[in-house]
Amino acid sequence: MSGIDALPPLRQVITDHGLSARKSLGQNFLLDLNLTAKIARQAGDLRGADVLEIGPGPGGLTRGLLAEGARRVLAIEKDARCLPALEEIAAAYPGRLEIMNADALELDPLTYLAPPIHIVANLPYNVGTELLVRWLTPDRWPPFWDSLTLMFQREVAERIVAAPGSKAYGRLALLAQWRAEARIVMSLPPEAFTPPPKVSSAVVHLTALPEPRFPAKPKVLERVVAQAFNQRRKMMRAALRGLAPDIEDRLKAAGIAPTQRAETVTLEQFCALARTVES
Ligand code: SAM
Repeated sequence: MSGIDALPPLRQVITDHGLSARKSLGQNFLLDLNLTAKIARQAGDLRGADVLEIGPGPGGLTRGLLAEGARRVLAIEKDARCLPALEEIAAAYPGRLEIMNADALELDPLTYLAPPIHIVANLPYNVGTELLVRWLTPDRWPPFWDSLTLMFQREVAERIVAAPGSKAYGRLALLAQWRAEARIVMSLPPEAFTPPPKVSSAVVHLTALPEPRFPAKPKVLERVVAQAFNQRRKMMRAALRGLAPDIEDRLKAAGIAPTQRAETVTLEQFCALARTVES
C-alpha cells in the first residue's frame, strides 16, 4: 500500500519491472506519490474530465491523476518496458486508464478523448517544448484542451511566463501568452526525481483563453516571431530583412520602431506586425 492507493510503492514497481532509467528517453521518475498527487491537483478539478498524460513511465503521476478523480486517463508511453506496470494501475482503476505504447510526437490522441480535456505531462524537455508549441498553434481556436499542466526545466518554464524586456522573453512566451494564461505553479529541486537531473524543474499551468488576446494568423505570427528572435541582439529591421521588401514600413505600421530589438516588442505589436505582413 502506498498512501494514495492500494498499489505498491513506486520503488518496488521499478524493481519488480526492472525499470532502470534510460537517459535516451529522458527518464527522471517521480517516486513520491504525495508529490505526484499534488502535481495532479494543479490541473484543477479532474472529476468529470478526461486527461491526456504523455510519458507516464512507471505511473506515479498517472496514479495521482486517477486518485484525484479523473474520469478517464489516456496515457501515451514510448517505452514498452513500462507497460506491465501501467497495466497494473489500469486493473486497479477499471475502465478509467487507457494505455498506448506510442511516440506522442507521431500520434493524434483526439479520437480517444471527450471534452473537457486536460493535458498533464512530465516529459523530456525537448519533447515537451515541441508538443507545447503544437498545442498552442493549431489553426482553429479554442483548442481541444482546456488546460496544460507540464513539467519543464526551470529555465524553460521561465521562458514560457517571461515578460517583454527580460532575457527569457522570446518565442515561447509569445506563443504561450497569446492564446493562454500561463503560470508557474510549482518548483521542484533535482532531488525530487530518480535519478536526479542536473537542473531544477518547475510545473507550468496554462489555461486556454476563449480567444487569442490579439488577432493574427498562427503560422504568420510563428514565422515573424521565430525570425525576430533568431538574431535577438539585432534591430528588428535587420532581423526581419527578407520577410518583406518594405519591412521598415510594415514595422512602423505595426507601431514598432525599426531600430527596436525583438526582446522589447510586445505581444500586441508582434500580432499587429503579423497582420501587416500577412496583408
Ligand atoms: N511521468 C513519469 C514520472 O513523472 O515519473 C515519467 C517521467 S520521465 C521524465 C519521461 C517519460 O516520458 C518517460 O517514461 C519516457 O519513456 C517518456 N517519453 C519520452 N519521450 C516520449 C515520447 N516521444 N512519447 C511518449 N513518451 C515519451
